[in-house]
Amino acid sequence: MPDFTVTIYYENSNIYPGNEFYRRQEAAKTMAKNFNLPFTQAPYKPEDWFRSVRGLRDEPERGRRCEACIYHRLNKTFQYAKSNGFQAVATTLSVSRRKDINQINAIGYDLAEKYNIEFVGKNWKKDNGETLSQQRAKDAGIYRQNYCGCIYSKLQNTNSKLQEK
Ligand code: SF4
Repeated sequence: MPDFTVTIYYENSNIYPGNEFYRRQEAAKTMAKNFNLPFTQAPYKPEDWFRSVRGLRDEPERGRRCEACIYHRLNKTFQYAKSNGFQAVATTLSVSRRKDINQINAIGYDLAEKYNIEFVGKNWKKDNGETLSQQRAKDAGIYRQNYCGCIYSKLQNTNSKLQEK
């Protein structure tokens, strides 16, 4: 018996470039279809996202830029949840080992108070959560990204690859 009836909400205006946004969106749609879950996509509005992280481009991953980015996306998700009568919000962001679960959950609980909607701040990495998610993605044959999403993380990834050479 599942704990929740889940709807996928794809809010990723942080992703650069545009074709990467749509590529990841297709992968998310495939997974939603495989698990028979409704899928809703938010409009791609990178200009809004850039406004939210203005002045933070040189921050390291897990720093203040990521905090602003996560706030931006979760805030949009809570707005959607509020307007559409959902009772709780959770995020797949915290399944990645590169993300700081405390940072994500602190934002989630703040927004839960703001919107009066529950935030499910479960540690999805626990009990092999990350390995399981990777295995499921592999089994589904979907595209897997090799950088977090924004232009700054893409540049960082390219630079580290160049340094390895
Ligand atoms: S590295 Fe990831 S979480 Fe951080 S700002 Fe970029 S897209 Fe957002």
